[in-house]
Amino acid sequence: AEQGKPFDEARAEVCYAAGFLDWFAEEGRRTYGDVIPSSSADTRIVVLKQPVGVTAGITPWNLPAAMVTRKLAPALAAGNPMVLKPAPFTPLTALAIMELGVRAGLPAGVLNVVVGDVADAAAIGAELTSNRTVRKIGFTGSTAVGKLLLEQAAGQVKRVSLELGGNSPFIVFDDADVKTAVDSMMAAKFRNAGQLCTAANRVLVQHGIYDDFVTALAERTGRLVVGHGFDEASHLGPLINEAGLAKVERHLSDLVDRGGKVLTGGHRHALGHTFFEPTVVTGLDASAVMWREETFGPVAAITAFGDEREAVELANDTDYGLVGFVYTRDVGRVWRVSEALETGMVAVNTGRVSGEMAPFGGVKESGLGREGSKYGLEDWLEIKYVNLGGLNS
Ligand code: NAP
Repeated sequence: AEQGKPFDEARAEVCYAAGFLDWFAEEGRRTYGDVIPSSSADTRIVVLKQPVGVTAGITPWNLPAAMVTRKLAPALAAGNPMVLKPAPFTPLTALAIMELGVRAGLPAGVLNVVVGDVADAAAIGAELTSNRTVRKIGFTGSTAVGKLLLEQAAGQVKRVSLELGGNSPFIVFDDADVKTAVDSMMAAKFRNAGQLCTAANRVLVQHGIYDDFVTALAERTGRLVVGHGFDEASHLGPLINEAGLAKVERHLSDLVDRGGKVLTGGHRHALGHTFFEPTVVTGLDASAVMWREETFGPVAAITAFGDEREAVELANDTDYGLVGFVYTRDVGRVWRVSEALETGMVAVNTGRVSGEMAPFGGVKESGLGREGSKYGLEDWLEIKYVNLGGLNS
């Protein structure tokens, strides 16, 4: 009701969000230290893992439950209290999570939520980054705001984890199974109306399979139903606001002006408001705005490539590096391309990468650190080494 995604997707997000709490509640028991052999007989080297201290979590609106628990769960499991600032478009989900925490018996002050208008974000961010009580900032949102927070946090050398924007390549090789690739594309592009950091932004298809893939994708996309999230028939809800809608239109008209051809969709939806038609467009190339910026909307933009080397070069031709999607049945190619992609995650023959048990995160300007998995817990812990001397005296 708050964010607009279809009800089934919202239920799935709540389960995904709860998964972080379950998983880190277990993993928190395994924050083992270490004993390191010393070069001296009368010393012992002991490694402890300790909480960082007071942490701040700043989260976006696109996954208003999951982006909160993906920070909160490891922070609490590691022993850190948190001040949480949710996005102003979706504060109610964060407040509901806070209420559940209270009911579950969280001691007062362990989880704190500060809400504000869009106009308040800079002041809240300035306080969280300049207040000496806060020792770590965990941020999910745009790369532009992430860079700003990183700069601000540098003033006190605070620890920072950043989950930022993406510009994901979706690479389909000639030997791929077309149905698998199209099924995955429906999830990787149209879930949450394309408003996901992992959303496929640049679709790269090898010449030999291009016509089959594009025809099947346009046909499936043309059948998607746009509507109210509580209507069971809906596959896509609205975009979050007018600015999101304007960005989609700007990206699409730029591509069409450069010769892009719309195969299905292409307009604001007849429902009005911020609904947009699921769209497939060809003619993408490196000169398009869509090549450089994430669209964050239901537009699949496609280009063709010749060989594996070209596919990797095109895929890596971006400042972002969150996830790469790869479709092929050649096991050698799976390894070569997975290793060559400059991304924090690779999805092979599947449209999904997220899960509490796996390390989610990006390289390049897509972020710093990982969330989820044992690696995600480490980001909320400090290592302290104790050198015990004088044992033989
Ligand atoms: P955003 O504009 O960067 O906002 C994210 C959060 O930061 C909001 O709570 C926002 O509040 C706050 N904020 C803005 N300016 C701030 C400042 N100066 N100091 C402190 N906080 C500030 O991003 P968004 O539009 O909500 O979310 C979409 C972006 O998130 C996309 O780029 C998407 O790729 C990315 N994302 C990344 C991941 C990932 O895991 N890598 C996951 C989901 C989304 P205001 O709205 O009040 O400005």
